[in-house]
This record gives sequence, structure tokens and C-alpha cells, in this order.
Amino acid sequence: MAITAGNGNNAVSAKDNIAILTNPASYEEHAAARIRLTQALQTSLDLTTVLEIFLEHARAIVPVGGLVYGNGASESRVQLGMECAQTLNYRLQTPQQDMGNITFSRRKRFNKLEIAALENLLSTLIFPLRNALLYRQAVLTSLLDPLTCVGNRQAMEEALAREISLARRHRQPLSMLVIDVDHFKSINDNYGHSSGDDVLRLLASTIRTIARTTDLTFRYGGEEFVLLLNKTDAEGAAVIAERVRSQIEDLIIGTEPTCIRITASIGVSSWRRGEKGEDLFRRGDSALYQAKRDGRNRVVIAN
Ligand code: GH3
Ligand code: MG
Ligand code: MG
Repeated sequence: MAITAGNGNNAVSAKDNIAILTNPASYEEHAAARIRLTQALQTSLDLTTVLEIFLEHARAIVPVGGLVYGNGASESRVQLGMECAQTLNYRLQTPQQDMGNITFSRRKRFNKLEIAALENLLSTLIFPLRNALLYRQAVLTSLLDPLTCVGNRQAMEEALAREISLARRHRQPLSMLVIDVDHFKSINDNYGHSSGDDVLRLLASTIRTIARTTDLTFRYGGEEFVLLLNKTDAEGAAVIAERVRSQIEDLIIGTEPTCIRITASIGVSSWRRGEKGEDLFRRGDSALYQAKRDGRNRVVIAN
């Protein structure tokens, strides 16, 4: 385990640490604070909560304006409190793993005593932080469809609840496309399951390419995808649905003589104020089945 001072000026050895902490502040006081912090850090696996607990306990000993934690590997960034001019930057590592950087800041310069106290507390953060990062990775993986690398049904349900609450708060429209490949079973039957998988992968990336970066693509199940379109009303969603339908129709998968062509049917529903996510989905799904009944390869807007 190592904590490296970012600018090299902040490093304080363990010996200095104890020497500084025994006088003038009580060594026992800091040791007790360290134990309290260690116990508190064990109460959460959520990255932001772990850092909040750390900051709250650190502030009881050293006035800190805020902290920024960043980990390039897991694309995590957490900012708490204010970002100020005077900073202390540390790189956190275990022998196996780089665990990112943490920067403390405030308006006034940190003195040697405060730096030592912070470094002393930082060593308690390493393993709780590693557990929070592992947990975060596990949660992210559990929300991803391994075949197509888009969100799975669970991720869709969570995102839908989030998007509805945003739409309600900001009084913005929200629409949903429920997309289902036509006669997909026959693709598996005619070309084999692994070709079917290729089709699903290409389909997911095609939908993602058409979607804006703020739109959210999910594989709801088998050969059924959901595209959530925030800030988009029924009219806008119908245009996007038609674009998705026609691009799927134009896809050529594989090479002659075994190239595969597919079509898809799409149901579109737009959120009504007060409507629950499951009802929005149910209307989109009913519109999709109407499109199937109407002959497939078409878009139907839910009323
Ligand atoms: P429809 O036009 O009515 O939607 O007909 P369909 O054949 O697309 O629908 P059906 O529900 O009858 O069949 C869906 C097929 O999708 C059957 C199943 O084997 C296939 N499927 C589901 N998940 C996967 C998968 O992960 N990979 C592959 N290759 N096939 C899958
Ligand atoms: Mg189908
Ligand atoms: Mg289906």
C-alpha cells in the first residue's frame, strides 16, 4: 500500500507523523479519530459515500474545503465540497492496483502538521476505496448485456425510472422505442445461432449510432431492444423510429452467398405526466405488436 504525494513536497514519513501528532495535539485523540474513521468506512460500498465519510471525518481534524477523487481506469470522478487554490494531491496504490488520485483543497495553505494528519487518515481509505471500486465494477457489469455490450433489462428499468423523474422535474418530453427483429427465429434456423448473435451485435451498434449520445440503448430481451429518447416528443420519436427502421432494412450482414438481410418492427410511446415506467413500456410494446399484426417492418405510434 502506498500513498505518494503528487508534487513530492507533501511526503511525511511515519516517524515524522507520530512526532508531529504527539505534540501539540494528543496522539490518543488522533488514534481514536482513526479508529472511528476505519469503522465508519466499513459501513458503505458506494464510492461517493465512502469519500463523503472520509471527508467528514478528516474535517473534524483538518479544515478541508473539498476533495476531488479521480480514477482514469474506471472512469470515476467524484467531487465533494469546494475546489480551492491550495491543493494537496496524492496517488493511491496497492501493490496490485493503481487506485487513482485524490486532491484535497482549501483557500489557506496546509501546514506540516495538517499534512501529516491527513496522510495518517488516508492510509485508512485505501482498502475501503478498493472495495468500493470493485463493487462499482461488479454493479456496472451486472447491468451490461455481455453479447451486445449495451445495457440489459435491469439497466433499462433503472434508467427509465431516472429519466421519468428528470422529465417530471424539468417538464420535458420523454419517448421510448421498442424495437423487435422480424422473424428472427428463421435467421437462427437458416444461418445458425452464432450468425444470429452477429446480427444482434450489429443491430445494437446500429441503434447506438443513430441515437444521440444522451439517448440510451438497451437489450430488453432476446431480439428486442429499447431506445430511450429524452427531451423528445412523439413527433421527434417517430422520425427517429423511422430512421432506425430504414437503416435496419438497409443492413447487409455477412458476404455473398450467405448475406443476411433483416427488418424490424418498432413501437413508439411518449411519456404522459404521472405515467409509470412500466405503463410507458407496456404502451410501446403494444404498439410494437400492432406493427407485427399490421405486417411487420413498420413503425406504430402508441395512442
Ligand atoms: P416476430 O417477427 O414475431 O418477432 O418473430 P421472431 O421469430 O423474431 O420472434 P420469436 O419470439 O418467435 O423468436 C425469437 C427468437 O430469438 C427465438 C430465439 O431463439 C432467438 N434468440 C433469443 N435470444 C437470442 C440470442 O441471444 N442469440 C440468438 N442467436 N438468438 C436468440
Ligand atoms: Mg422478433
Ligand atoms: Mg421478440
